[in-house]
Amino acid sequence: MANIIEARPKLYVMDNGRMSMDKNWMIAMHNPATTDNPNAPSEMVEFPIYTVLIDHPEGKILFDTSCNPDSMGANGRWTENTQKAFPWVANEECYLHHRLEQLRVRPEDIKFVVASHLHLDHAGCLEMFTNATIIVHEDEFNGTLQSYARHQKEGAYIWGDIDAWIKNQLQWQTVKREEDFLELASGIRVLNFGSGHAWGMLGLQIQLPEKGGIILASDAIYTAESFGPPIKPPGIIYDSVGYAKTVEKIRRLAKQTNSEVWFGHDAKQFEKFIKSTEGYYE
Ligand SMILES: [Zn+2]
Repeated sequence: MANIIEARPKLYVMDNGRMSMDKNWMIAMHNPATTDNPNAPSEMVEFPIYTVLIDHPEGKILFDTSCNPDSMGANGRWTENTQKAFPWVANEECYLHHRLEQLRVRPEDIKFVVASHLHLDHAGCLEMFTNATIIVHEDEFNGTLQSYARHQKEGAYIWGDIDAWIKNQLQWQTVKREEDFLELASGIRVLNFGSGHAWGMLGLQIQLPEKGGIILASDAIYTAESFGPPIKPPGIIYDSVGYAKTVEKIRRLAKQTNSEVWFGHDAKQFEKFIKSTEGYYE
């Protein structure tokens, strides 16, 4: 008898550790000073860093790459200021290559890597994927290469990471400003969020046979609190008008396609995800 069971995509959520930062970076002006409270404090908030692997019959797709294992410490790629402002804590099993190894996936097995943007906690391990097509927004790519050429060492774009991408001769595919809904495999489309949190943001729309629709928003929406309504923009923002437009686009798209929105760094939402060590979505 013929085997009629078709291979189905499996989606894995990989836990890549925790980061902390001033809450104002996450929700701008969350606690403004007033005459009653002239020294209103801010606080460090902790949040998860995660990546998503889609093991699709048409090829493996990775969404984001977390931080580089060599980021922190005296000889780390991040400057001392960056390490103090955005400390990343992860034990070795959280490193992306170890998470993939646990799933018996080698970096060279990945067909597409979608880089939501090129900040330190999303693009840190791009250098490993020399066999893949790396998909990035053209404005994000251009801005990042400019910061590299200018030897800018402070901030969210890590000079040492970019240097490794160039040395490893990655294969880049840029999403142009007017391009959208780029299909990578059946049921998987790249969303062009444009400028907002960073110069050029990408997301992923996923349709799974059992689980249904998922939109990976990445840092276009940090948390449920950011999503609102009302929208609460972050303190790290390049284009505030573009930011709000993107959030409304995601809200509309989620409704139209009956999709869950997966936020970039929501601790409560992340807690509920099935992690790659426990199982997968299909
Ligand atoms: Zn982030």
